[in-house]
Amino acid sequence: MEINFECKKCHGIFDCDVGNVGVNENTFRPQFENDISCPSCGKRTIDDVLLTELGQEQLTQATLDFEPEEIIHSENDELFGINSTGECQGCDTTKSLNDLGLCDDCAEKLNRDLIRQRDWAYSSLAFEVPSSKHEELRENIISVYGEKLELIGPSKNLSTSRKRKKKRKKKRVKGMPRR
Ligand SMILES: [Zn+2]
Ligand SMILES: [Zn+2]
Repeated sequence: MEINFECKKCHGIFDCDVGNVGVNENTFRPQFENDISCPSCGKRTIDDVLLTELGQEQLTQATLDFEPEEIIHSENDELFGINSTGECQGCDTTKSLNDLGLCDDCAEKLNRDLIRQRDWAYSSLAFEVPSSKHEELRENIISVYGEKLELIGPSKNLSTSRKRKKKRKKKRVKGMPRR
C-alpha cells in the first residue's frame, strides 16, 4: 500500500509503496514490507522520514484492518445491549441481565415456563431441538423441575403479550396447507 512520507533530509513529500504493513512485536512501531525510498535521496529508513498527516491516516487505516474481528465484536455488544447490569424483572435483585431484563437464573426459569406452556417459539431451549422433540423436552423438564410455573405467574405480566402471540401463531400453523 502507498503511504505519504516527508523526507527529513530534503523535506520533500512523497508517496511510497511500502507493501504490507505490520507492527514490530518488540518496538510496536510500524514495519513495512518494502524499503522507503525518497525520490531525491534514495533509500530511507523509518527514522529518516516523517509521516505526514495523510500518511498517519493511511497507516491507521492499514493497522485497523488487522483486527476486524475485534471491531465486529464490540459493535455487536453495543448494538444489542446485552449483558447490562440492572434489576432483574423476575427476582428484583441487581444482577447482569439478558436482553429480556432477566438474570441468568430467571432466564432459565422463564425458559422452562415457556416450555411448560408450550411457547416453543419463545424458548431458546426449545429452539435448540427439532419441533418433533418439543413434547419430549417438556416432559423431561416437568419430571425434573415439576409442572408448576416458576417465573410466569398471575402477579407477573411477562406472559400476557406472549400468550396472545402464541395463539395467533398456532392458528396460522394449523391453517397451513399440507403437502
Ligand atoms: Zn529526501
Ligand atoms: Zn432474576
